[in-house]
Amino acid sequence: MSHDNLGLNTTCVHIGEVKDEQFKSAISPIYVSTSYAFQDVDQKRYPRSFNTPNQEALSKKLAALEHTDRALIFGSGMAAVSSMLFALLEAGDHLVVQNTIYGGTSNFIREEFPKRGIEFTFTEGYEVADFEKAIQSNTKVIYIETPSNPLLTITDVRGVAQLGKSKGIITAIDNTFASPVNQNPIDFGIDLVMHSATKYLGGHSDILAGVVVGPNDLMEKVWRVGRNFGGNLSDFTVWMLERSIKTLGLRVKAQNRNAKKIAKFLEAHEDVKQVYYPGLKSHPQHALAKSQMKGFGGMLSFELADGLDALEFQQALQLIKPSLSLAGVETTTLSPHLTSHSLMTAEERAAIGISDNLIRFSTGIECKEDLIKDLKQALAKVKGENVMA
Ligand code: PLP
Repeated sequence: MSHDNLGLNTTCVHIGEVKDEQFKSAISPIYVSTSYAFQDVDQKRYPRSFNTPNQEALSKKLAALEHTDRALIFGSGMAAVSSMLFALLEAGDHLVVQNTIYGGTSNFIREEFPKRGIEFTFTEGYEVADFEKAIQSNTKVIYIETPSNPLLTITDVRGVAQLGKSKGIITAIDNTFASPVNQNPIDFGIDLVMHSATKYLGGHSDILAGVVVGPNDLMEKVWRVGRNFGGNLSDFTVWMLERSIKTLGLRVKAQNRNAKKIAKFLEAHEDVKQVYYPGLKSHPQHALAKSQMKGFGGMLSFELADGLDALEFQQALQLIKPSLSLAGVETTTLSPHLTSHSLMTAEERAAIGISDNLIRFSTGIECKEDLIKDLKQALAKVKGENVMA
């Protein structure tokens, strides 16, 4: 049977399994061997070469989900993004990078690139024209993130891909917030895609992992650098990630539905000043999001009305937990200025619109009525109203 036109959930479940020919088990066995015969095999298998049976099988699932050739699975999202960018850039090269990206990536570029003689420019905005303006004669890569962490800004994926192609510049995207369920950037001409698999791909807050996925020629370059840095994921965790991805389609679609309901509830609430969710008509780039996303995702952010304290509000939540990470099946909140973006200065945060009162909200798969009830009681509590939970 051809695997080409399988639906999302079938791909999640069936593509990229390690076939157990001996015992015919229903699920992939785990190969934890760090040593494989070298004489009579066509490949020198070694975990750091990203070519164990479990790595190779999961690579096929991820490549199928992102509509491309090959994936590499790393020990973290940061191992994935750092290996990818160091594979594409060397001393004297220049990177154009979106201003509104995950704080850890921004910090990695600011701290590590100068030591290696790699130049970079953070864009002033996230319109295609902002990327074009930042291009120099030595620009080799444009790096975007959409929807972005934590403000859910939307970058025109087609527009940036075309810009890159017209100038011979490689384009790369952090597709973590959308997941392959909601957005497939390679279909729009983006060259390489990365994910923090710690988030939606893992989905249960129990795996730290990263993925780079793309066409064979570029992935060969990423593989060479990845192998030198030694950032492959252990095969136990590769196996857990394979198991997690079997339910990716189901989970993310449930999260999309819940997030839309919650965004609408918050938007209509008098004690909420602003909601950032690309699925809301009020989002300035709703039309663009609609043109490039199949669902709007489980992430949103919001600010409470002036005078209401974001930390007190989060402490008042009973079902919804404060959490550093995101995208698990459980709903969580976070204050970006204290966590993901704490390494930026207050001025840098202000420049990209991250206020101290901003709350990032990761919607889980719980019953929406329970989540809304929890939000209502916490909003009342932070206002000093006495409401029974
Ligand atoms: N990209 C995004 C959008 C993220 O949110 C994160 C982590 O929060 C990363 C990359 C880094 O991934 P990891 O924590 O798996 O290294």
